[in-house]
Amino acid sequence: MAKCLYCQQDNPATADECENCGMPLPRLAEQAAERKQRRFLWFCIGLTVFCAVIIVWFPRTIS
Ligand SMILES: [Zn+2]
Repeated sequence: MAKCLYCQQDNPATADECENCGMPLPRLAEQAAERKQRRFLWFCIGLTVFCAVIIVWFPRTIS
């Protein structure tokens, strides 16, 4: 799906122009955003794994 920047209409990924207002769809911009989103997801997974490792490996010193 490709969302139109002008009217927020969802269009099929194969469409070159918005079905609602006829403006060209920002396909490259959407791909870049998707890649950025995926990088953020992997960052979150990495952070979770890092925290789990720290919790398991570091000794708990309760005084
Ligand atoms: Zn539109």
